[in-house]
Amino acid sequence: MGVVYLDSTTGKTQELRARKEVILAGGAFDTPHLLQVSGVGPRDLLDKIKIPLVVENPHVGEHLWDHISVPYVLKLSDAADNLPESVNIDGTEHKNTAALFYINGPFSWILHLRSNVKERQPQDMTDVQLYVMGNSSLFDETEALCTTSSKRGTDPSDGSREGTIRIIDQWPEYRGSVKAQTSSIFNKPVLDYGWDYKLDNKVSPKFKKVAKVVRSQIRLLREIFFGEKASEVSETFRGLVLDEVEPGLDKVTDEELDVWMRGMFVSALHPACTCKMPDCVDEFLRVKGVSNLRICDTSAFATQIDGNPVATIFAMSEKLADMLKKKYLDDLDEKSCTKTKGKKSNLIEADSSDSNDNCFD
Ligand SMILES: Cc1cc2nc3c(=O)[nH]c(=O)nc-3n(C[C@H](O)[C@H](O)[C@H](O)COP(=O)(O)OP(=O)(O)OC[C@H]3O[C@@H](n4cnc5c(N)ncnc54)[C@H](O)[C@@H]3O)c2cc1C
Repeated sequence: MGVVYLDSTTGKTQELRARKEVILAGGAFDTPHLLQVSGVGPRDLLDKIKIPLVVENPHVGEHLWDHISVPYVLKLSDAADNLPESVNIDGTEHKNTAALFYINGPFSWILHLRSNVKERQPQDMTDVQLYVMGNSSLFDETEALCTTSSKRGTDPSDGSREGTIRIIDQWPEYRGSVKAQTSSIFNKPVLDYGWDYKLDNKVSPKFKKVAKVVRSQIRLLREIFFGEKASEVSETFRGLVLDEVEPGLDKVTDEELDVWMRGMFVSALHPACTCKMPDCVDEFLRVKGVSNLRICDTSAFATQIDGNPVATIFAMSEKLADMLKKKYLDDLDEKSCTKTKGKKSNLIEADSSDSNDNCFD
């Protein structure tokens, strides 16, 4: 088992061979892409891009599952400039209230909240997570993944202040795919989120389900800021919110909200499941049908998760590290890889053994 990499110092490609195993951790887009251009993936796709098939697996690059994010934007009063250091929305102590409105930039996400909107999830899971952000110019980074003219990317030109609560649907029914376009790893793959909501104003069953969740959340937020629950909000916060900018209080009916929403979906930047367990990897993260190759990133998630992915990836990595230590403990001081001179056997090989070696006692 081995890898080819581009040595940026020489501009030449090099081959590295692992004595034991290779672990892929390229993320939900690049891991399936790398597998596909290495000959592991759907037969039709590999035929199309003229890659010799090593292991057929129709699931590699499929099942792309991301959280969907929709903005709820509020117009704020000047009181935002003079917030006390510590107060929560319900009047209780919160340490960084002021920072919530003063900090800017991609790392200024302050609060992640779980909403109790429950349209699909029966038990402890929540349908929606809310990100409370300082202003509406945040989330510009989604441009890298999704271009939609409708997301609010700037603060208002009249100098007034806005605050955004991103509504994150954590279980959208949509599934997409990642597909290599050519045999070269340097040509980006085609990403398709499978979001069909823009097509000729089509209202698909999947869109209906996502829209129902988002509408419930918008209506709940309206109750809190402008409706029955407003009296429960602390005085400080009541003085803060002037108006609803997006979707706008004039949009009331399901139809009006759905039309608005259609232009607003962006990725919440949590793509996963494109080499999912158990279709592509087993419970020990071993790539099915390939010897000595594992995956440790969000592509291997069996399902999306209820929250942001990084903690789960850390847990997955720690677990894999424990498994590998256990398996290779005796050889830990050996060099784990070696540069090859000249061409040897294939870098990636189908697993012909019937090994049930699972790293556990
Ligand atoms: C702006 C932004 C903010 C986010 N905020 C949060 C947050 O607050 N909390 C949270 O939990 N999650 C957050 N996420 C999501 C989180 O970052 C991802 O879910 C997570 O990083 C995915 O981890 P991964 O290991 O699967 O892949 P990645 O972290 O994407 O790691 C893959 C790595 O592989 C490298 N790579 C890919 N292909 C190759 C190749 N061919 N050769 C060599 N290297 C390669 C990439 O450069 C990258 O370093 C955020 C994401 C973004 C974009």
